[in-house]
Amino acid sequence: MSEHPQRFIWFCSTEYVAQYPDSLKKLRDEIGLTTIMPESSVCHTSGFRASDEIAQRGPFEDWRSREALWPKAKDGIYPPVAGTVGGFDDTPLLRVIDACREIGIEIWGHLGLWSYGGDVYPEYAMVDIFGKPLDMRYKQWGIGLCPSRKRINEWTRDCLVDVIKRYDIDGFDVDHARYPAPANLSGLFACACESCQDEALRLGYDFHSMKEGLFQFHRALNHLTQEQLLAGLEVNLNFWDFLSYLGDNYGVLEWLKFRAVVLAERMREFRDAVQRAAGPEKVFGSDVFPPSIALLGGHLYAEWEAATDYLTGGSSFGGVVGWATTVTNLATEWAPALCQIVPGLNEGIALQTIYQLFGYGDLALPLSVAGIQGESLPLSEMYRREVTKLKALTSGRIPLYPPVSASGDPELARQLCTAVVDHECDGALFTLNPEGDENLKVIREVFGR
Ligand SMILES: [Zn+2]
Repeated sequence: MSEHPQRFIWFCSTEYVAQYPDSLKKLRDEIGLTTIMPESSVCHTSGFRASDEIAQRGPFEDWRSREALWPKAKDGIYPPVAGTVGGFDDTPLLRVIDACREIGIEIWGHLGLWSYGGDVYPEYAMVDIFGKPLDMRYKQWGIGLCPSRKRINEWTRDCLVDVIKRYDIDGFDVDHARYPAPANLSGLFACACESCQDEALRLGYDFHSMKEGLFQFHRALNHLTQEQLLAGLEVNLNFWDFLSYLGDNYGVLEWLKFRAVVLAERMREFRDAVQRAAGPEKVFGSDVFPPSIALLGGHLYAEWEAATDYLTGGSSFGGVVGWATTVTNLATEWAPALCQIVPGLNEGIALQTIYQLFGYGDLALPLSVAGIQGESLPLSEMYRREVTKLKALTSGRIPLYPPVSASGDPELARQLCTAVVDHECDGALFTLNPEGDENLKVIREVFGR
């Protein structure tokens, strides 16, 4: 076991815990809960009230007038953007903080960054390498905000500092610290706006050669044949092989690394600001994409280990960053796109190729998009594979708290927990139902409490 603090974190609803504060004590006693990360589904932060000064400078304050771009505005639901937006009543959050302090539970603040909100704020949105906004066809995977806008980033940093000074919290688990999920094909070619080009120059990347590499890759993709893909299946091509196969000059790799470094730089700045303001014991981290596709979403674990205080995820499966399902998620978008560009390509061959690119070729996964969406997937096996890679690809420098979705089938919950224990991670971040006694028992048993 590592020297890192063991944590059992509950990714919970602020409103729920405010209403049922006794759930904290129950979870502390039954599963050894140490920490909560509350989020309000109304404002998408933990429920912070932005200070007047922050709100006055806020770039997203006019969201209520953007109903055409954000229809949920009419129900009072805030758009998922960066930082803290004004006008939210923090009474429920204050109740949650009091409840935590009373029984010795840590509380991590939650707010969003870049992977959403570009559809509501096109003026701050990511732009792809062709100079276009992201394709709205992929909206469910996120239409992101550019991560290099100085004004937004400095203001977001000030939001974090403002919150850590005014609320009695133990640090942050920030959300959306990523590019859109790689199922969003157009998101892979972003952000290439002018601010990001400046950032490339500052960080020592040759934007022009990355752009040429991406253009060349794009052209090669358009000449791909079914025969080439079949030959690739024969030799078990992985993603990196596939890039060389298409004659990549490392421009694509350089691009992916550049994108990841941009995000890590921001995270480092945010963490430094928070810890300067409130002390080094305030932790700062985020959820990350699972290892198989992390780099495609902007996460280079080595950079993240240097820039944050822990690694965690959002959920085990389902949703945009479900650890077990990101490869199958992206396959549902990549396979139809491949079929469109490769004449006569069979969907099953496209899917098998994609599984293989990300190390899932040996799992008996559905060979149709309808199958991925409709059949049951080997979730525990897929999840275990990601946790194994997480452990193998990290240095041990910071603690690992993989996401465990523990509110469904108890047997599946047991398998997910077992994967975490078998790999000697430092705890887990749970989504769970505090009234689901059978599942709580499973957690207790597997983690040996
Ligand atoms: Zn940009």
